[in-house]
Amino acid sequence: MTIPPSPSGGAAPCALAERLKAVIKQRGPLSVSDFMADALYHPQDGYYMSANAHGRKSPLGADGDFTTAPEISQIFGEILGLWLVQSWLDMGSPKPFNLVELGPGRGTLMDDILRAARLRPEFVDAAHIWLVETSGRLRHEQQKRLKPHNDAKIDWVDRFTDIPGAPVLLVANEFFDCLPIAQYVWQKTGWHERVVDLDWERDAFFFGLAPAPSLDRALLAHPLAVTPPLDPSTATVLPVEGDVLEIGEDGQRLAATIAQTLKTHSGRALIIDYGPGVSGYGESLQAVRDHEFWPPLEDPGQADLTAHVDFQRLGAAALHEGAAFYGPQPQGRFLDRLGLALRVEALCRARPEAEADTIRKGAYRLSSPAQMGELFKVICLSSPTLAPPAGFESEAIA
Ligand code: SAH
Repeated sequence: MTIPPSPSGGAAPCALAERLKAVIKQRGPLSVSDFMADALYHPQDGYYMSANAHGRKSPLGADGDFTTAPEISQIFGEILGLWLVQSWLDMGSPKPFNLVELGPGRGTLMDDILRAARLRPEFVDAAHIWLVETSGRLRHEQQKRLKPHNDAKIDWVDRFTDIPGAPVLLVANEFFDCLPIAQYVWQKTGWHERVVDLDWERDAFFFGLAPAPSLDRALLAHPLAVTPPLDPSTATVLPVEGDVLEIGEDGQRLAATIAQTLKTHSGRALIIDYGPGVSGYGESLQAVRDHEFWPPLEDPGQADLTAHVDFQRLGAAALHEGAAFYGPQPQGRFLDRLGLALRVEALCRARPEAEADTIRKGAYRLSSPAQMGELFKVICLSSPTLAPPAGFESEAIA
């Protein structure tokens, strides 16, 4: 559900909160997924949509709310660039092909990818680059950032489904965590959907529970919404009262759509995000503002709102469509396998010690299990006819 923008057009800091409160007063509580969808994507006040949220230039980076791997180190994008070139060669060097990025942020990742990929100029020549981005503000930043690549053919679209069919290589870093999730809480009577309600006296949002169990709804919406071992009828891990089940239907649907493309046209999709390697119970909805955790229900539209990605369910959705699925494997191991250490040393050579130190620290942050190396995972969806991709050898589940 998306509530309409206010006719005045004036975006006071909490305009969205006020309108969501009015909706709850009128129609009753919102599902967590509807709340999340409006907080992030409301056309006027959503976190990723508002023209200039709380006066900042961008949600990402040191002066924004959060930092991502490509913003930490150029090595991340360079390694992905080489992985993409290798995949293109594995596909028989199709020309033209679609090089797709979902949620390109400030354009840093694509910039680093293209710079590294220029080792094979034919790759950049053959690529039609599609940036899937809903935020006008970030599109503008991406345009500026990618100016040096003005020989490359680059287009922007709102959705993956807007891209015409062709052989495809896709990357998505910290994109799936933005997609809305629904939450269900296990009670004696079954799975009850968690909702966002309004405490009229305190004039504040709070989490409530739908009075009737409603897992059926989730099951009906997607046959893979609940996969073993989470289906209570076949479960090896039975829920106990209070367990929370998160279901990201939008993410699963997108994985299925990408898989259909990979079945029809040759290609691979590399998805990197944070979440557990194995599906399970637990709640992970979180808000971040100014690089600090923030109460998820406070000031919707003013903080980034995300949830852990359920890689196994994304994989299940892709397998269901006939694509191959590799991973999930920890980001640190993936980068190590693709030569992180060699790249660090190559970059550090002939640099002053202070710069070399920054490069080493960046690489450590990406790969150390204590930092992003373990929490972040990498999966690859692939055309079933292609060999296992670099970095995933002997990991197919297809
Ligand atoms: N991949 C980048 C940015 C991650 S932030 C990086 O690693 O730095 C999430 C990005 O996805 C932003 O560019 C945001 O505007 C975009 N985005 C979020 N939800 C989207 C959606 N549903 N459709 C298209 N773009 C989306």
